[in-house]
Amino acid sequence: MPELPEVETVRRGLAPSLEGQVIARAEVNRPDLRWPFPERMADRLTCARVLALRRRSKYLLADLSTGETLIIHLGMSGRMTVSGDPLGQFHHDHPAPAKHDHVVLHMENGARVTFNDARRFGAMDLAPTDQLDAHWLIKPIGPEPLGNAFNEDYLVGALATRNTPIKAALLDQRIVAGLGNIYVCEALYRARINPKRKARSLSKARVASLVPIVREVLSEAIAAGGSSLRDYRQADGELGYFQHGFQVYDREGAPCRTEGCTGTIARIPQSGRSTFYCPKCQR
Ligand SMILES: [Zn+2]
Repeated sequence: MPELPEVETVRRGLAPSLEGQVIARAEVNRPDLRWPFPERMADRLTCARVLALRRRSKYLLADLSTGETLIIHLGMSGRMTVSGDPLGQFHHDHPAPAKHDHVVLHMENGARVTFNDARRFGAMDLAPTDQLDAHWLIKPIGPEPLGNAFNEDYLVGALATRNTPIKAALLDQRIVAGLGNIYVCEALYRARINPKRKARSLSKARVASLVPIVREVLSEAIAAGGSSLRDYRQADGELGYFQHGFQVYDREGAPCRTEGCTGTIARIPQSGRSTFYCPKCQR
């Protein structure tokens, strides 16, 4: 499932074709994805200008000139790709329509933005831009890990009474937005924290140390264009390459890369997902 770095990479890839541009025609090829599309979605998108393409957690938010915002979630297998060449950088033609091209935005500038989702766990909704924070998908989400509200004092306070494993606490979207299995495993490894440790049992200093580490892992992953596992693609169809930088994720049985550590990376089930960690140097 795409996590924050993958969604941010897609956003950066789509923004030049969308921001400031008018949707000449919206093609909606089915009534729903994970949930039904909002009523008359195609009509509400057609002729709207995209003022900005933002991201909140794993949601892409396209603010429209109509006063509404298009909320997009890629789900498990959703891909949002752009074809055509409004900027004159490439010479790509539009590809032939493909199976699972559920929503296609035909932009006035000639670009075509396609949402393809084979498994249909993705979602789209429209909400008034000025009430976006109250939307049911957005409201429960905690602070952005790359924003100022996610800081040492905040995280120490948020975890002080948490009786769950630190891994589960960091995956909790109410505590911090957009983190998933891969980047939590990587952050806990860099912090030398055992993923099974109860959050409230960790010293304030160790919890605080996670803030810069989480930011660092996410920033590196964004710089690498995200991690390509299974279906994820950047907006231009290219693969991200942060998977080559994994220190623990998907490395079960491999030697720990911490200098001086002779441990072997282990995989254990936690919250229904695989946790990868070094039992020797993560305490
Ligand atoms: Zn180790």
